[in-house]
Amino acid sequence: MHAEIIAIGTELTTGAKLDTNSQWLSIELAAVGIPVLLHTTVADDMPAMLETLRAAVRRSDIVLISGGLGPTLDDLTRQLLADLAGVELVLHEPSLRHVREIFAKRKRVMPERNTIQAMFPAGSEPIENPHGTAPGIWFDLPRSDGSICRIAAMPGVPSEMKPMFRDRVLPRLPRSDKVIRRARVNCYGVGESACEEKLGDVTARGRDPEVGITVHEGTITLRIEAHGASQSECDGKIAKDKQLIRERLGALVFGEEDEQLENIVVRELNRCGKTVSIADEVTGGVPSCWLTAIGQSEQCFAGGLIVGHVSNLPQRLSSEHVENVFHDGSPTDSAARARWLAESTRERFGTDFALSIAGSLRMSGTGSDEIPRLYLAVADASGTEVEEHIPVADISFARNRAAKSALDILRLRLQK
Ligand code: ATP
Ligand code: MG
Repeated sequence: MHAEIIAIGTELTTGAKLDTNSQWLSIELAAVGIPVLLHTTVADDMPAMLETLRAAVRRSDIVLISGGLGPTLDDLTRQLLADLAGVELVLHEPSLRHVREIFAKRKRVMPERNTIQAMFPAGSEPIENPHGTAPGIWFDLPRSDGSICRIAAMPGVPSEMKPMFRDRVLPRLPRSDKVIRRARVNCYGVGESACEEKLGDVTARGRDPEVGITVHEGTITLRIEAHGASQSECDGKIAKDKQLIRERLGALVFGEEDEQLENIVVRELNRCGKTVSIADEVTGGVPSCWLTAIGQSEQCFAGGLIVGHVSNLPQRLSSEHVENVFHDGSPTDSAARARWLAESTRERFGTDFALSIAGSLRMSGTGSDEIPRLYLAVADASGTEVEEHIPVADISFARNRAAKSALDILRLRLQK
C-alpha cells in the first residue's frame, strides 16, 4: 500500500507559491507507516488535472489532493472528481447551511457562487471544515480490478488543510502494520562523494535502514529511514546506523536533526565555561550573526570586529577604538593577517578563543588569473592555527561556507 499526493493550483506551477502541503502530508503519512511514492503539481487546467488524477487512481491506493476547492471559476477540483467518476454534482444541504452560517457570522451576504462549495460528486462524502468555508471531499472510487482507491480532496490553504487532514482524513485511512522512522546526522569538512566513499556500504540502495546523502552549503546531511513493525524496532535500527556512521566518519559528524555548527560551538563553549570573539574582514559578520541566534550565546560570545578590509583601517578610520584593537598596524599578507587578527582580537576582547576570517571572496584585480583565497585562524592559549580556504561558487554560498569552516575549526578544537 502506498499513497500519492497531488497539489493543484496555477500559482504553484507558475512558481508564485511553493507547494508546502505535499511536504507536510508526506511527513504525516510516513509517521503512520504509509509510504508516499509520488508528488505531482498541476495547474488549474481540467485536461491536465484529469490525466494526473486518472494515473494516480490507477497506481496508488490513497490519493491526497490539496487545492482548488474554493468558489471561484478556477477552482476545479470538485468537477474533476465528478468527471473522473462520470457522475453529477449534487447539492448537500448541511454543507450549504455551513457555508451560509460562515457568511452570516462574518456579517456578509453569501454570493450565489459559493453554493458550489456545497456541491459534491454523487457517491462522495463531504469532509467537514471547521476552519473555513470549503468542505473537503472523500471519495471511495472503485477500480476496474474491484479494489478501491481512497481519495481525499482538501483545501489548499495550509491552516485549513492541516487540521482537516489530522482530524478527519487520517483517522479514515487504512492502517499500515508498518512503521517508518527517520533521523538525520549532520557532518562538515568533507565533500559529498568523499563522504559516501568513507561510508562504504551504508548508503547502498535497498538497504534497511536506507541512508541518503544531501548537501547544503558544505553541510552534509545523512538521512536515515528505517522500516519496521514497531517504533522501537525502527529506533533500534537507527541507533545502530548512527553508531556505524560515527565509527566511519569520526569527527566529521558534528550533530543530529536540526543542529548546526553554531549550536555545537555555543553548547561546547558553555559546557567548559569558555568564551570566543571573532574578527571578520570577509563575510560581513555571518558567523557572529549565526552565534547570536543561539540561546545562551551571550554567555560565550564576546563580540568582535566586522570590517571591509582591515589593512586600510588604521589610516582611513583613526577611531581610537579601532586603533586600540589593532594597535600594532596590520600585516598585508592575508595568512599573516589572519593570524594577527585572531591573536590581537583574542587579547583585546579577553576571550579564551578568537576566530578570524581574512582575505577576499573575489578575484584580486581584473585580468588576474589569481584565485581568491581566504585564511581562517583560531587562537587560544596554546597557540594559533591558520588554515587556507579556497572559496567556490557564488558569493553568498562562499560567504556561508567560509563562516561554517571558521566555526568548524573551533568546533574541532573544542571537541578534541
Ligand atoms: P479557497 O477556498 O481559499 O479558494 P482552495 O482549496 O481553492 O481554497 P486554493 O485556491 O487552491 O485553495 O489555494 C488557496 C491558497 O492556499 C493559495 O493562494 C496558497 O497560498 C495556498 N496554497 C494552495 N495550495 C498550496 C500548497 N500546495 N502548498 C502551500 N500553500 C498552498
Ligand atoms: Mg482557490
